[in-house]
Amino acid sequence: MSTFTDHDAADRIRQSLTALSAVVREMTPTGAKPIPAHPDHFNLLARPFSETCLVCKLPGHSSANINASPRCRVALLSLIVFWEDVATHLTSLYQHSKRFHQAVQASQPTYEMRRDAGGLKGGDLEDVLVERVTRAWLKFVAHFSWIRAKANVVLAVGEVGRYEAVAAGLNGLLLGGLTLSDLYQRDIAQ
Ligand SMILES: [Zn+2]
Repeated sequence: MSTFTDHDAADRIRQSLTALSAVVREMTPTGAKPIPAHPDHFNLLARPFSETCLVCKLPGHSSANINASPRCRVALLSLIVFWEDVATHLTSLYQHSKRFHQAVQASQPTYEMRRDAGGLKGGDLEDVLVERVTRAWLKFVAHFSWIRAKANVVLAVGEVGRYEAVAAGLNGLLLGGLTLSDLYQRDIAQ
C-alpha cells in the first residue's frame, strides 16, 4: 500500500513540475504563446508588451470606458484563474517534494524582482522554477496594485475576493508571508 502511495505522490510531483516548467517556458522568447481572443487560465503578463488596454493596462484587447469593459474583466479573471492553478501546483510541491520545499525556504524574494529584468538565477530545476515563478508573481501583484481602483470597478466583489485569496496564499508561500509593499519598505524605502 505504501508503495502505491509513494508512486502516487511521485506522480503528482512530476505533473506539477511539468506544469510549472510550462509556465516558465511561456515567459521565454521562444516559448511565448500568442494571446488568445478569449483568454482563460492564460498568463497575459508572461511577456513584455507595448500595446495595452487603457483601462486595465493588459495586452490583447482595448477598452475605452471603464463602465463597459467586459474584456478587461475576462483578462483579469484569466490571470486570477491562472494564478489559482499555479498555487495548486506550488502547494502540492511544497507539501510533497522535499527538494521543492528546500528551494522555497532558500528563496530570497526582492522588490526588484517584480520588474523581471535580467539576472536570472541558475541551479537545480526546483530553484529555477521557484525564482521564475516568484518573479512572475511579483509582476502580477505589482500590476494588480497599479490598477487596483479600476479592478474594483471591473470585477465583481466575489472576483476581487478570489484575487485576495490567491494573493494571501502565494504571498505566504513565495514571499514568506510578506506583501509587495512590505518588500518595498524593506528594500527601497529605507
Ligand atoms: Zn482592459
